[in-house]
Amino acid sequence: MRICRVAVDDDLFFGLIEGLSDAGEIGEGTLVALLDGHPFGELAPEGRIFKASEVRFVAPILPSKIIAVGRNYAAHAKELGNEVPVSPMIFLKPSTSVIGPGEPIALPWQSEQVEHEAELAVVIGRLCSDVPVDRVADVVLGYTCANDVTARDLQKSDGQWGRAKGFDTFCPLGPWIVTDLEADAAAISCVVNGEVKQRGSTGDMVFDVAELVSWISSVMTLLPGDVILTGTPAGVGPIKAGDEVSVTIEGVGTLTNPVVDRG
Ligand code: ZN
Repeated sequence: MRICRVAVDDDLFFGLIEGLSDAGEIGEGTLVALLDGHPFGELAPEGRIFKASEVRFVAPILPSKIIAVGRNYAAHAKELGNEVPVSPMIFLKPSTSVIGPGEPIALPWQSEQVEHEAELAVVIGRLCSDVPVDRVADVVLGYTCANDVTARDLQKSDGQWGRAKGFDTFCPLGPWIVTDLEADAAAISCVVNGEVKQRGSTGDMVFDVAELVSWISSVMTLLPGDVILTGTPAGVGPIKAGDEVSVTIEGVGTLTNPVVDRG
C-alpha cells in the first residue's frame, strides 16, 4: 500500500495511490483515493478519487520530531574520517525542516558547503516506547525517501549538529509512504543533475531498522508520524543553486527537489 498526502484546491488530505507504472512512477492511469482523517489505524476512504495529475503531492507526513542516525554505514563514516559508533548515534532535526517532493531546498547564507545525504526514512505508526526488536514491525507505518541535507562546514565548526542539520527545507521527504517494503535489503541512491553520487543498499546499515527503532524508543516515546532517518551511504557531496537532487529507494520511488539560494 502507498500512502500519500496531497493538496486538492486549498485543502490537504491523506490518500492511497493506485496504478503506478511498472517502474513505480506516476503515469496516465495513476489514481489517488482520498482518506478521511489520518492514516493511523483503520483507514477510512473519503469517497473522492482523483487522477494523480489533478492533485499536488506534498510531504507524506508532518512529524512531531525527526530522529536521525549518524554514521550508520561504515563506508560513509570512513569517508568523513570517523569511526563506526558502538551504539546508534542520534540527533534531532526540527519538524520545520520538512519539505515535500518538488519543493526547493534553500541554501542558507551561513554555509558555504551544503551536502546531500540519501536516506531511508521510517515512519512510525503508533505511540510507543521500549519496543522490543521483535515487535518493531507493529509500530512502523511504512517507509519513504529522505534527504538529510547538511551544512557540512557548520557541522564541523559548531560541534553540535542542530544548526547544520536544522535549517528550513533541510529534510525533504517523499514522494509517498510504502507500507510493505523489504527495508533491510533495498537499493538506495542519490543523483545530482543526472549523475549518480551515492549508490548503496540498506542492507549495509550498521544498525538495521528494527535495532534503530527499538533503541530510539528506549530513549524517547515515539508518536504516530514521527520519522527516523537511518543514515546515509558513502558518496555525500555538495549541492548548489540550480542543481536538481533525487533520492531513489528501490520499492519506494524517487524524491526530487530543486536547489535554490535562500532569498
Ligand atoms: Zn544523515
